[in-house]
Amino acid sequence: MEVTCPLCNRIQMDVLIKDVNEFDKSYDVFYCGNCMVGITMPIPSPNESSSLYSSGTYRSASGKRFVVPVEAGVYLARQLRKKRIQKYKEQGRILDIGCGRGVFLNVMKNTGWTVAGTEYDLITAESIAKNYDIHVVTGNPGEWGFPPGSFDVVTMNHVLEHMSDPESAIRECAGLLEKGGLLVVATPNITSLQSSLGKHLWFHLDIPYHLYHFSEEGLSTLVEKYNFHILKVRRFDLEYCPFGWLQTLLNLSGIRKNLFYNFLKNLNSREMLISNTSKWDLLLTITLLPLFFPISLVLSLYESFLLKKGGTIEIYATKT
Ligand SMILES: [Zn+2]
Repeated sequence: MEVTCPLCNRIQMDVLIKDVNEFDKSYDVFYCGNCMVGITMPIPSPNESSSLYSSGTYRSASGKRFVVPVEAGVYLARQLRKKRIQKYKEQGRILDIGCGRGVFLNVMKNTGWTVAGTEYDLITAESIAKNYDIHVVTGNPGEWGFPPGSFDVVTMNHVLEHMSDPESAIRECAGLLEKGGLLVVATPNITSLQSSLGKHLWFHLDIPYHLYHFSEEGLSTLVEKYNFHILKVRRFDLEYCPFGWLQTLLNLSGIRKNLFYNFLKNLNSREMLISNTSKWDLLLTITLLPLFFPISLVLSLYESFLLKKGGTIEIYATKT
């Protein structure tokens, strides 16, 4: 089968991961050696994407995604992200592209930043605006209506891999930032050890939500193409990397895919999930968790700091 890279139009692409079965469909990940990026094939149609992201499937209607202790962890992680940004910019105007439930923007707003966000889904956008009194626009890059140079910082936290045109998103970031402005972009790393080992069972593969699968080289090249100068690359993230290993190891053990993660999610269907789960899967999860937890922490530190191929990539870059 001939597949063309949507980023560089090169025809020759290799199959990296085969037969990822989700929602009664089968997907493959092709890898472009020129862009150093993986691409989900077939690419979901705009209609399929809309139904994937509608409120209640990707997020619950209340906007809460997880059980209480995890929510506390999410809040702490947003505080730490704020601190990392403030090493480069003490204060100013920030845009969070794909701002999710708005937790991060609310943290920034409470520190005196002027904040704005974008979201794909209108209902999610309206709920953020209502909950936190934050300006949120919808649509794709180019449709947001912000004048050029409107921001000092633009962030995209695990969003770029969801976009149908990641290149136009990075170009838009360059346009929206002031000269010397900061771009912070984070995605999972398709060339990480956890991805190479987990293959179609890797937790952060997240197909069909993830359309693109970046390597550090691929993401760096894309950012530099639009005249950004890379200041720093973070390869370890406490929120993403150890859990990526933990859920991948559980998946590799033959337990139903992402069962533990689905238990942590605060969705209405959790009771149904428990009644639909085999006793064997429950027992195996409970038995393996205490064993896999320390192993996951060690493995994620090893791949991030020694192999320099962590489960996630976070790039800090300045507009030149
Ligand atoms: Zn390509």
